[in-house]
Amino acid sequence: MIDYQFDRDHIWHPYTSLTKPLPVYGVTKTQGCEIHLDNGQVLVDGMSSWWAAMHGYNHPVINQAMKNQIDNMSHIMFGGLTHEPAIELCKRLVELTPKGLDKVFLSDSGSVSVEVALKMAVQYWHSQGKPEKTKIVTPRNGYHGDTFAAMSVCDPVTGMHSLFSGAMQQQLFVERPTPRIEAQWHSDAINSLRKTLSDNHASIAALILEPIVQGTGGMNFYHPEYLRQARQLCDEYQILLIADEIATGFGRTGKLFACEWADISPDIICLGKTLTGGNLTLAATLTTNKIATGICNGEAGVFMHGPTYMANPLACAAAIASIDLLIKNDWQQQVNQVNQWLKQGLAPLSDNPHVADVRCLGAIGVVEMKQAVDQATIQRFFVKQGVWIRPFGKLVYVMPPYVIQQDQVAKLCNAIKSYIEQLS
Ligand code: PMP
Repeated sequence: MIDYQFDRDHIWHPYTSLTKPLPVYGVTKTQGCEIHLDNGQVLVDGMSSWWAAMHGYNHPVINQAMKNQIDNMSHIMFGGLTHEPAIELCKRLVELTPKGLDKVFLSDSGSVSVEVALKMAVQYWHSQGKPEKTKIVTPRNGYHGDTFAAMSVCDPVTGMHSLFSGAMQQQLFVERPTPRIEAQWHSDAINSLRKTLSDNHASIAALILEPIVQGTGGMNFYHPEYLRQARQLCDEYQILLIADEIATGFGRTGKLFACEWADISPDIICLGKTLTGGNLTLAATLTTNKIATGICNGEAGVFMHGPTYMANPLACAAAIASIDLLIKNDWQQQVNQVNQWLKQGLAPLSDNPHVADVRCLGAIGVVEMKQAVDQATIQRFFVKQGVWIRPFGKLVYVMPPYVIQQDQVAKLCNAIKSYIEQLS
């Protein structure tokens, strides 16, 4: 029995109030692309647990890898010790990520991997005799996590910077990346970034962005030429490029990493979310030999970070199994297929007067409404329809597991359609 009263009285859920909590639904089991509720209802999963469960839930291969590992060693400190799960995982990460990213720092969540990336950038410039390069530049509408430094590079409005302004480092913001991915490139789109870098480069350590897909900050799919030119500008002005691929990594956008849309390599990349196939919390920050060497030849002689659960062997075992499964499963074909089904199901909604825009990229489908939705109402509606979709603001979106079947995608799309049709 789920003790809802205790949950309501004592436990915070993400981005919610404890005095006026939104309704929550009790989950007893997950299987494949399905979520089983305590009232016996079974929901088709449209969220992959926030971009994480790309192979669906309870995958027997990943489960077996975790069982094997747990019988051997679930955790051991990484200071002074090492183990095969970490080494095997890092071999795969070095091989699969864009060229040149050869040095891996493992941590425990996406936000921490961003903190690590920002520290690497600042420490690198310090080691190069440029301690004044500490500012981070970032496009508006971005999202990089909830810890303080990560929050300082989230969109200032949706990230509610006014609440924390006295406590947070002030960063430099440029216009959000445009034009859209399918639009014609226009050279003005890079002007805001160029001017900010040109005016402030002496104090800037890095540019951080989500390549091609700005997720939480608006599900904005932008043009690869922006990313290509951002890479060039970073080189021109001696600024490191940090690609936050925590949401986009491992195939979600239709490329293994979203940087591949522009055929670029960042100086630092952050990975997380689906790194373990949505099974355990683990993240990675990778950088180049040049930056790692710079940091280690600097004043400190070391990189100043070391979380307790660094390189947790159980999480590494899940990640290895998940990555091997991704490659074996022909993820590209799976994602292309999901993309087609999403387009078929969602494109017709673009004519509805309540809908501002419909867009799909890889295994992501977005219906942008003209008005913000009421989260509790729409959530109840979707659960009644037998689907798990969790909209925010004006965005009703799905990013299902890559293994979802055609009838399940149709169920997700029909639920969105029914919601919109009953509005007027
Ligand atoms: N960066 C991006 C692009 C994200 O989408 C997220 C998570 N929504 C994070 C960073 C933070 O990751 P975590 O929630 O694991 O701290």
